[in-house]
Parts: sequence; structure tokens; C-alpha cells
Amino acid sequence: YSTASAVEDPITPSVKVNYNQLLINGQFVDSVSGKTFPTLDPRTGEVIAEVAEGDARDIDIAVSAARKAFDEGPWPKMTAYERSKIMLRFADLVEKHAEEVAALETWDNGKTYEQSLKIEIPMFVRLFRYYGGWADKIHGLTVPADGSYHVQTLHEPIGVAGQIIPWNFPLVMFAWKVGPALACGNTIVLKTAEQTPLSALLVAKLFHEAGLPEGVLNIVSGYGPTAGAALASHMEVDKLAFTGSTETGKVVLELASKSNLKPVTLELGGKSPFIVCEDADVDKAVEMAHFALFFNQGQCCCAGSRTFVHEKVHDEFVEKARNRAANRVVGDPFLGGIEQGPQVDAEQFKKILKYIKYGIEGGATLEAGGDRFGSKGYYVQPTVFSNVKDDMKIAEDEIFGPVQTILKYKDIDEVIRRANASRYGLAAGVFTQNINTANRLTRSLRVGSVWINCFDVFDAAVPFGGYKMSGHGREKGIYSLSNYLQVKAVVTPLENPAW
Ligand code: ADP
Repeated sequence: YSTASAVEDPITPSVKVNYNQLLINGQFVDSVSGKTFPTLDPRTGEVIAEVAEGDARDIDIAVSAARKAFDEGPWPKMTAYERSKIMLRFADLVEKHAEEVAALETWDNGKTYEQSLKIEIPMFVRLFRYYGGWADKIHGLTVPADGSYHVQTLHEPIGVAGQIIPWNFPLVMFAWKVGPALACGNTIVLKTAEQTPLSALLVAKLFHEAGLPEGVLNIVSGYGPTAGAALASHMEVDKLAFTGSTETGKVVLELASKSNLKPVTLELGGKSPFIVCEDADVDKAVEMAHFALFFNQGQCCCAGSRTFVHEKVHDEFVEKARNRAANRVVGDPFLGGIEQGPQVDAEQFKKILKYIKYGIEGGATLEAGGDRFGSKGYYVQPTVFSNVKDDMKIAEDEIFGPVQTILKYKDIDEVIRRANASRYGLAAGVFTQNINTANRLTRSLRVGSVWINCFDVFDAAVPFGGYKMSGHGREKGIYSLSNYLQVKAVVTPLENPAW
């Protein structure tokens, strides 16, 4: 592994933290309790900034602001074209401030600056242009009902949306949630993850500069069991969208049902198969499988975390996968050419090292890595296990770190059965040159996304979401709009009614 010295002596980011309060009704404010919490630099564990800690009382105030902006306007009452223009102006503004936003994202999360700047900001901007484009193209139907009636459907915004996002892609998750909700005319209270509150505050400030009216988008930083739970159970919140762990997904679904039965979309965990077929070009398959697992320090809900390799190419694959991991460039995420930065926090770091221990104790073969990287911060060596069996903990649980597990298989029926034998169903990768094999696998895998000879393609127009315990509903694309719309049927007699 390269650049061990750079992690011992971290680079000073060129950005400052200008916004660390809650953003409610267009104003930056302290929390009611006056409490703050530290957000940490994953490269060192040192404090970047103290951030206002919202709890149930702040959620209440934020929901009132969102309620007012919805019930009294202006947001849902504006023309759709006006809303669209504000969203497009916002996209331009984020693009203009790309370097500042990207630096803040990297500092708070640990992902490489190159990834923040060249992948995530463009994705964010594209998402807002995509949904800004939708705002004035949402409309209902006229329906041919029996009898003499004129029937139409109105597609109306649902109301106040509560949105809870995780720390692995703070900006991208903001875009997936906020984009469709605003395009449909809803107002929002967004709770960011306690590990990564900073970038959302900066972009939300830019959104107001782009002309977003006060109260339309409120940002509350804080912890899950306090701020998050208050949002999920709030009686005045009309819809809840959550991305996070399956465990917490169950909690928020219960809170939503116990309070006001608000509809809930959930984007949860995964243990996605990446299937390398016997005809695959091994070098390309190794590279794609490596990307599928190690991208974003392995902190992806859809990570290709069960690498199934056909026995004919297995040994060659394992050797090359081991070498690829051993050559992965780990280091300070602000340096150019770095492939992997630190994990987001101490909790994740410890959890990953614990799973590596389970792998070794469970009898899997450690091919590469297996320990922390350097002596500072939350860096983990790119780790590869072979001889992994389906019932090992490392093959069943979501590790959420840079740990590749390689499983051998003999034929396609077997790999379909094993790939589907998971409580999750988020995504799958298929690597083959045979169209029939690709089609067979595509139709057999019970997952929300299948990437054939590619992985992690997150186009704004393409839906994303899970089967089974990976969640409910779809985000992105046209599919996400229905999460944020009510359908009202309006029936008018065509002739004078009997009365
Ligand atoms: P992770 O384990 O990856 O941090 P979580 O599901 O715990 O995933 O976190 C995702 C988001 O859910 C975060 O914003 C977190 O604060 C929030 N959260 C955690 N616990 C709760 C809860 N009990 N109620 C509502 N939100 C929660």
C-alpha cells in the first residue's frame, strides 16, 4: 500500500466551516437546548467543528416552518416553472462552488477529494437538473369512467416530507431525497447523519441564494434516536423517506405507523452478489469486482460484497484480486491519485476490524490486508478473503468496509440459488460475455438493480431501490415522483345532476 507517511501527517483542507447551526425557516439558528455535538475528521479523529444538535423541539419548529410554507405557500402555489427555475439555478450555483462543497464533503466523510469533485458534485448537479426538469411536467390524467362523467386525476404534492439520510454519500443522498420532493411541490425537514452534517448546510444555504423561499427546506443536524425519531413520529409530517441500516429502517417504519401512518420509503442494507461467469475476461472482471466492492471505502449499501467466481476462472481471479487490492492506493483523501481514504468514524472502523477477525476465525483464507492502515485515523487495509462459505458471518452480514469476500461456484443454477439466499435484495453485478447467461441471471436475481459488465452506474433517470429487506420503493428517475405525490380523483357529471 502506498502513501503511509501522508496519513500520519494530514493535509490541511483549504475550506472553512461557515455554517454549523440548524437551518430553519431560511435562518441559521442554534438548537433550543443550546447543545452542540462535534463532527470529526476521519483522517485523525480530531474535531472539525461543533454543530448545533437538534432534538424533538427543533424538529417541531422545523416541521411548523415546513407546514406553513406548504399550507400557506409559496412553494406549492408557485408555478411549476418558477420552482423549476429555482432548482436549475441551484444546480448552477453548486457547480460554481464545486471545490468548496467537495472539500467540505471530503473533510467530513473521508472520501477522496477527487471522488467528491469529479463524481459526486456532478451527480448532485445532474440530479437537480433532472428533477428541475420534471417540475413542470407533472400532471394527471383524464379517465374514461362508466356513465356520463368527466373524471380527472390531480397529482398533488403530499405535504411536508421528513427525510433522514446516512453518512456514506451525504450530498448524493441529499439530492436523491430533496430533488423529487421539491419538484413535486412538497416542503421538507431533512435530518442529516450525525457523522456528516456539514455539506448539507452549505448547499442548503446556496439553495436559498438561488431563490428558495424560507421554510421550504429545513435542515436539522442531530442524532437518530432524538431528532430522527421525532421526525419519523411527527403527526404533522405527511411522508417519510429514509436511507440507512435495515435495523433502523424497521424502527422508523414502526414510528411512522404508530403515529399518523405516514407512507414510508426505505432504502436499506444489502449484500449484493457480483457474479463472475466462466467466460468472463478475468482481468476486466477483477477490476470491476474490485471497484464494485472498494468504491467509497466499501461504504455503499449496494457494494458487490459477495464476489461469486466460477470454478474455471476462480484461482486466476483470486490471485489477481489479491494483487489488485494490495496495489490499491490508500492515503490522505486530499492527495491526488489516492483511491481509498479513511472509514467515516471509529465505530465503523472497529466494526470492520471485528468482521476481519470473524473471517479469519471462521476459516476463510486471508489473501490481502487484514489490519488497520497506518497508525492514525480510521484507515483500513484493502482486505480480500477467499474460501468464503455462504454461512460465514462475512458472507451474510453487511460489513460496509473494504473487505472483499470471494466465493467459488460450479454452475448457473447453483449461483442463482446462492445469490438469492440472502435477506437482502438491493443490487447485483453480472460479468459475462454471453447474452443468454446475462438474460438468465437478470431475470432470476431478486434485486432492484442488475449491472451487467458494469457496476454502480447511478444515472439520475435510472430507478434505485431494494427487494426484500433492502427496502420499499424506488428513488431517482420517474419512479421517485410517485413517492411525493397524492392522486386526487375529481368526478363531475357531464349533464345536470339529478338533484
Ligand atoms: P448507520 O448504522 O449506517 O449509521 P443508521 O441507520 O443508524 O445507519 O443511520 C442512518 C440515519 O438514520 C442517520 O441519519 C441516523 O441518525 C438515523 N437514525 C438512527 N437511529 C434512528 C432512529 N431511532 N430514528 C430515526 N432515525 C435514526
